[in-house]
Amino acid sequence: MAKTIIFLGPPGAGKGTQAQRLVDEKGFVQISTGDILREAVKKGTELGKKAKEYMEAGKLVPDDLIIALMEEKLRELSDRDVILDGFPRTVPQAEALDKMLPQIGRNLDKVILFELSDEEIIKRLSGRRIDPETGKVYHIEFNPPPKDVKVIQREDDREEVIKKRLEVYHSQTSPLVDYYKKQGKLFVVDASKSPDEVYNSIISVI
Ligand code: ADP
Ligand code: AMP
Repeated sequence: MAKTIIFLGPPGAGKGTQAQRLVDEKGFVQISTGDILREAVKKGTELGKKAKEYMEAGKLVPDDLIIALMEEKLRELSDRDVILDGFPRTVPQAEALDKMLPQIGRNLDKVILFELSDEEIIKRLSGRRIDPETGKVYHIEFNPPPKDVKVIQREDDREEVIKKRLEVYHSQTSPLVDYYKKQGKLFVVDASKSPDEVYNSIISVI
């Protein structure tokens, strides 16, 4: 059966960075709900129009939209090992996933929790920059972009929105830690370490 791994953790903890490496080196497919939504907003699709205001305010997009989106993606990728990056983010999303997986011939393997203090999260998010051409993620201090790459800052990586996203993580997403602990599926990694060290911890778990 194809693997299904969840990356859980606050925004800015390094989930996307690590997922990208597993894609490049281990043949996983990354399903990032945030990336899919940003693309939909850029293209002005129905989904994008519905999601835009929530994203700009740092709030979560309604569960029904996200659950339908994830089910469609998982059906498309039925035979591939996947990393769910940024989903689920609420208990109802996790319950919907539990219901959906057996119906599409999958089983949840492991949930990797990225642990990082709020102080570090703020440093990472405020310094994050993106190459709009390739989607590659940089950091002005920890992983500076090459001189010839013109990077942009995500709209929601501004200070006021970062604060809101953190609040949303603590109130709506962090209950999933207990949810998956009870299922015996939760594995914790110390996300404050270097990208290589975090990668090695993930590899030793999955
Ligand atoms: P997430 O997908 O969890 O929101 P990202 O992977 O986009 O997080 O990482 C957030 C920021 O932190 C980026 O600017 C990235 O370059 C940087 N970053 C990622 N992992 C590390 C790390 N282990 N140490 C320092 N900076 C990191
Ligand atoms: P991310 O790129 O994961 O930081 O997500 C960016 C934004 O997209 C979030 O702040 C939410 O507005 C929205 N989003 C992404 N994933 C979800 C999800 N699973 N549930 C609700 N909203 C989401």
